[in-house]
Amino acid sequence: MNAPLPLEVTREAAGKAYDAVSRASNEVAGRLAQRLAAETTGEVLFSAADRGRYATDASIYQVTPVGVFLPRTAEDARLALDICRDLKVPVVPRGGGTSQCGQTVGAGLVIDFSKHVRGVLEVDAERRTATVEPGIVLDHLNAQLKKLGLWYPVDVSTAAQATLGGMAGNNSCGSRSIAYGNMVHNVLGAQAWTSDGALHTFGRFEAATGAARAMGERVRDLALALAPEIEARWPKVLRRVAGYNLDVFHNQNEKPYTADGSVNLAHLLVGSEGTLALTRSLKLQLSELPRAKVLGVVNFPTFYKAMDTAQHIVKLGSDGSLTAVELVDRTMIELSLQNPAFAPTVRAALIGEPEAVLLVEFAGADRAALLKKLQELQELMGDLGLPGSVVLMPDEGPQKALWEVRKAGLNIMMSLKGDGKPVSFIEDCAVPLVHLAEYTDALTQVFRKHGTKGTWYAHASVGTLHVRPILDMRRNGAPEMRAIAEEASELVRKFKGAYSGEHGDGLCRGEWIQWQFGPKINDAFREIKKLFDPLDLLSPQRIVDAPRMDDTRLMRFPPTYKVIPLQPALDWSPWDVQNDPATERTTAPGTGGDPARGFAKAVEMCNNNGHCRKFDAGTMCPSYRVTRDEQHLTRGRANTLRLAMSGQLGPDGLTSEAVRDALDLCVSCKGCKRDCPTGVDMARMKIEFLAADRQKNGWSLKDKLVARLPDYAATASRFAGLLNLRNRSGLLARLGEKMLGFSARRSLPQWQSRHFFNGPARGASRTEVLAATRPVVLFVDTFNGFFESANAQAAFEVLQAAGYTVHVAAKERPDGKHLCCGRTYLASGMVGEARAKAAELLGALQPFVAKGIAIVGLEPSCLLTLRDEMTAMGFGEPAQALAGQSLLFEEFLAREAVAGRLDVLVGKLKPLDQPLLVHGHCHQKAFGAVSPVLDVLKLIPGAQPQLIESSCCGMAGSFGYEAKHHAVSMQMAELSLLPAVRAAPGAIVVADGTSCRHQIHDGAQRQAMHAAVLLARQL
Ligand SMILES: Cc1cc2nc3c(=O)[nH]c(=O)nc-3n(C[C@H](O)[C@H](O)[C@H](O)COP(=O)(O)OP(=O)(O)OC[C@H]3O[C@@H](n4cnc5c(N)ncnc54)[C@H](O)[C@@H]3O)c2cc1C
Ligand code: SF4
Ligand code: SF4
Repeated sequence: MNAPLPLEVTREAAGKAYDAVSRASNEVAGRLAQRLAAETTGEVLFSAADRGRYATDASIYQVTPVGVFLPRTAEDARLALDICRDLKVPVVPRGGGTSQCGQTVGAGLVIDFSKHVRGVLEVDAERRTATVEPGIVLDHLNAQLKKLGLWYPVDVSTAAQATLGGMAGNNSCGSRSIAYGNMVHNVLGAQAWTSDGALHTFGRFEAATGAARAMGERVRDLALALAPEIEARWPKVLRRVAGYNLDVFHNQNEKPYTADGSVNLAHLLVGSEGTLALTRSLKLQLSELPRAKVLGVVNFPTFYKAMDTAQHIVKLGSDGSLTAVELVDRTMIELSLQNPAFAPTVRAALIGEPEAVLLVEFAGADRAALLKKLQELQELMGDLGLPGSVVLMPDEGPQKALWEVRKAGLNIMMSLKGDGKPVSFIEDCAVPLVHLAEYTDALTQVFRKHGTKGTWYAHASVGTLHVRPILDMRRNGAPEMRAIAEEASELVRKFKGAYSGEHGDGLCRGEWIQWQFGPKINDAFREIKKLFDPLDLLSPQRIVDAPRMDDTRLMRFPPTYKVIPLQPALDWSPWDVQNDPATERTTAPGTGGDPARGFAKAVEMCNNNGHCRKFDAGTMCPSYRVTRDEQHLTRGRANTLRLAMSGQLGPDGLTSEAVRDALDLCVSCKGCKRDCPTGVDMARMKIEFLAADRQKNGWSLKDKLVARLPDYAATASRFAGLLNLRNRSGLLARLGEKMLGFSARRSLPQWQSRHFFNGPARGASRTEVLAATRPVVLFVDTFNGFFESANAQAAFEVLQAAGYTVHVAAKERPDGKHLCCGRTYLASGMVGEARAKAAELLGALQPFVAKGIAIVGLEPSCLLTLRDEMTAMGFGEPAQALAGQSLLFEEFLAREAVAGRLDVLVGKLKPLDQPLLVHGHCHQKAFGAVSPVLDVLKLIPGAQPQLIESSCCGMAGSFGYEAKHHAVSMQMAELSLLPAVRAAPGAIVVADGTSCRHQIHDGAQRQAMHAAVLLARQL
């Protein structure tokens, strides 16, 4: 064994090695890219923007790789490894890139397995095993296993985006690890390449042969030689994920790594963070899906009591039925109560105002036995002096809702605006349960001493509580982080815990490995690294010889970070704030010192957690769902914007080509505005980009035609017959594609010479509606007014039938033009024109707003502009007041129904016995306005509306009409919307969005209708 290097020397060398790797890599990057392109079938991404997008993960670090490679097959990955070996370029394997410690950022070639290498190779239901490729996402695997009654039970919070390869790399652990263990307890084997290019099968040590056996024997010898050291230094907790699993030969874990006590060599790779071998496939131990689950929510008067009680609660699990004990503290409770989506769920779990709650879950096959466990929990709490402190949740619905709140915990915290952010660096220290109360108390004091605070949550069952103190990494965050880390480490040592108990080592905790295990075991780790990777090719300077955690050269926001000054088109001042780390109070809007007046800080809200890579319910992010490209993902876009605005992609800043490319497929669906945990609103950011870009490069004829549609619609409608010829003539359609870029494969909206605005004057006058007892103002947009006037007519009739005095919004001084929200201008980056339209609308509606009259609209993207972008145009309070009273047609009716004011209308509605499908427009989803549609449709006797679980329809304003986007647009629609429509041939399809109806017509040849039309039809 080598003589140990002094710690400081090792770190210094590692820092220098980083610089050397970057320099050397630049020289060979060209050849590397060339060979990858010539010798493999994978995707080769070497642009500055691509490298920038792969320079970060969910940690505070940023290291630009030489290049990025997306293997299409496992063979591509092997070839890439060979090429890297030839050229001496390090390899950094990557899955979803959701690591919190910087495991996937590195100066070599990043190999991203998640796009293509994600197959399920084999499932053996009888033996309960599955063999998978490393890029498959946990949720996607579990979706396939569900029908077999099986699952892979390492249920990480990032299950919707974490890959199995990444989970194995980090030795990940889920909320239910008390029952199922960590990754290491659930991996049966692995096939992996060492850096010499040899493919090995790692499995049971007794059965191992060849090089795998030889490596195993050497590790065994190390373990045996160090047995006393291992016994003395190794943390005796379930959640220890630091270093290499040398203890497979001398188990120190609370839970044996294998059921029969045998040694499995694959376990050496688990937690090795890509430093020992490149995983080709993993053989996994599956579990039966529990048939029943029950939940008890224990309410505590003090945080200390909650922590002290965990050790007693886990004893209820001696029969294996206890699957989770998860903490939610007072801060988290309060934050959740502020979120309207979470508040009712949280309230149902509380008794009074607890300082903390523990979510105690039991699972198994026998529901009656589980209910008995809940009773035992109640009795236990009585014995511990807290009778009546348990809220019972025996049913699945409330349980699921509460788990969602718990899972969203970190993300709720991360939505704090300002440069101070909750930073992950000691967030998963694990201590034995008997010390949990003392440990958390002492660490809270440490935070206080440093003028910050942390919110505690998560895995009380296994002594791994998550906590992130708020630090400002651009200022004095790095030294403060170090100081807190050192004090925390003393506590971990005092309580004999594990410093790294869930999130791995990476850049953040690598240097603490020697601290944790001592120099001898650290040297053994170095020897293991040499044994597997003598060339130091795989993720160098990780686990052994890691750089300092506070080396600011490796950080995303080093003190040198600067933003290019910018005057944004919209108002971003609410993001331009600073915060107080101790109270989390933010300063007044506009005082944050952002040279981009809040826009840069809004972009920087993305913390790379990767939640936008999910494919389940919700909208975010349709362009990623069809491309699986980091570039076409909310995270990739936010990173591109951040890099561009901080000058890291060249002098063009926001108007650089990289930004244009990254935003090209963003359909402005606002899915991220709602689904992104930190509220990254890429649709609004795209407006900002379009404004800057077009200002510089000019608007195309197509841009102008789309933007100015509201201005020329009245004139154009007079030539409806002529203009509609385009939809009947292939020649004209092709000409239109050539000259304007509108796809010839699309029909365009049909002009109507008789439309809503030139029909007979109707509705109440301004004076009449202002004096009415049941007043409402109907805002008819360009699309429903000129192209589908039957919708506007229907809405008008329904409102009248319901007994309202309806005024159709019109200009105060009529000039033959209609009122417009400015949406089409915003979509083309003409913010000045949009502001002018909005000002006119605001002025016209102001008297009604002042009287509290509802403004009701039909087209979600138009009406919701009043609630969204119009509030960011500098109109101040009047715009806020208008936003507060602008409602979609169904939102208004649903509100009125609840108030008991729709009885007359309901009495008039004829029954419906046809199946009814509903597709929500993305903006309706973003504003939580889909359930009112269902509620209103349910007013029709017999109607049973079914919501189609769809993302964006893919049409998205003019996006789908554009020739260059036609294919992607159709792919988005084919993800779920069109198949659902086709699967219900006899159903009525309701879709409120003009473009959604058009897409359904083009893709499924079905005529969807606005809800207003259906209601009017039933009158
Ligand atoms: C909000 C949030 C919540 C989280 N919650 C949890 C949690 O509950 N439990 C938990 O354990 N973690 C959690 N994490 C951390 C992280 O999500 C997990 O570690 C996850 O398993 C990583 O998966 P990934 O696909 O993103 O891997 P990546 O981050 O891409 O990679 C992880 C490691 O695996 C290596 N790797 C990837 N593919 C290969 C391969 N083919 N061969 C060799 N090495 C490879 C990488 O080099 C890296 O070292 C959380 C993170 C965030 C941001
Ligand atoms: S855009 Fe939002 S969801 Fe996506 S990584 Fe960034 S913070 Fe997470
Ligand atoms: S607006 Fe829609 S397409 Fe654009 S980044 Fe957000 S979720 Fe993706």
